[in-house]
Amino acid sequence: MSGIELYIHIPFCVKKCLYCDFLSGVFDEKMQRRYVAALCNEISFVGKKHRGQNVISIYIGGGTPSWLSEDLMDAIMTSVKESFSLDPLAEISVECNPGTLSSEKLNLYRSIGINRLSIGLQSANDDELKELGRIHNYNRFLHTYDLVRKAGFDNVNIDIMTGLPHQTIEKLDHTLKSITMLRPEHISAYSLIIEKGTPFYEKYRFDAVKQEAGMPTEVLPTDEESYRLYKYTMEFLESKGFKRYEISNYARPGKECRHNIGYWDRVPYLGLGLGSAGLYDNKRTSNTRDIYKYIEISEEIAKGNLPESELSSPYYESEEALSRNDAMSEFMFLGLRKIAGIRRSDFVQMFGIDIEAIYGPVITALRNQGLMDAAEGRLFLTDLGIDVSNQVLAQFLLD
Ligand code: SF4
Repeated sequence: MSGIELYIHIPFCVKKCLYCDFLSGVFDEKMQRRYVAALCNEISFVGKKHRGQNVISIYIGGGTPSWLSEDLMDAIMTSVKESFSLDPLAEISVECNPGTLSSEKLNLYRSIGINRLSIGLQSANDDELKELGRIHNYNRFLHTYDLVRKAGFDNVNIDIMTGLPHQTIEKLDHTLKSITMLRPEHISAYSLIIEKGTPFYEKYRFDAVKQEAGMPTEVLPTDEESYRLYKYTMEFLESKGFKRYEISNYARPGKECRHNIGYWDRVPYLGLGLGSAGLYDNKRTSNTRDIYKYIEISEEIAKGNLPESELSSPYYESEEALSRNDAMSEFMFLGLRKIAGIRRSDFVQMFGIDIEAIYGPVITALRNQGLMDAAEGRLFLTDLGIDVSNQVLAQFLLD
């Protein structure tokens, strides 16, 4: 399917998790309504420039989009349908958190075309959920999952995290066994990263430094333990029929997230909403991260005034035209995140030059070290290469 993708950001959460540095916060319903009205204005404003382009996937992320009331989600989807040409087979995902869904909401989602849900569980152990500052316990998640299935959703992702404070293989095993028993279609397993500016940073920053330096830690798993947790996750999920198709993502056959694959394949996408990033016309763009400014811009546009901006959209905070080298680097380091890797012929088609002419020496060196392999016109990282993917992918950066 060819076309463009949409990412729509909802920056609201019931409560801020202790490790989270995403662009989200706790705002009341009045603010949520103002924001969604502004978002619908942006959708309509941007849609005018992209009429006729086939939208092949939408990802409504956050934050906690499932916290929005039914009428607000309905308004967003109505705006999208009025402003863009939506492919009848488009994948439309919404990020959800346990405790923020009801049967009524889920029925509404289905009736407006939402066909994939991603649920943030993170762990099946209540002590870990408490430590992370999540709003739910495991029973609450089970209730939400049951509602989701009863409403007829047959494409569901569960997010889990590894590398948690005090996490052992036994605890991870409990989480993995619990979720695979539920037979979701997709599982994402990301490692906890201690981000600056979060309460976790204040609490664990020294441990995080020790972890990175390969030294013994106090609460966080050591570097070696983190690796064991990551390997255990992979082997466990593969033994249960989940195929790893990207470094941190697993799916049953045919249930890979099309939106994310598009991201790694550099399919053009538009970012809508606060702080949203986009890739279009070989430019990386980013909307303003200031919610009051975002609303003000939309309100001005709705009144018929176009706010002045040096950038090509008044919503943008930044806009960067990619050089040919930037685009080639991205093609490699995003594409090689996929287990299937990249196609040599795609590189030629995109850049009009053979991949060996640009990356020949790097590819040869990585293949000699057993970090990369080739087959059927593809280049991909080996298991060993994936284990050290950060170092390997960095070698594809061009000046
Ligand atoms: S629910 Fe997600 S976005 Fe919201 S605070 Fe927690 S981790 Fe961050």
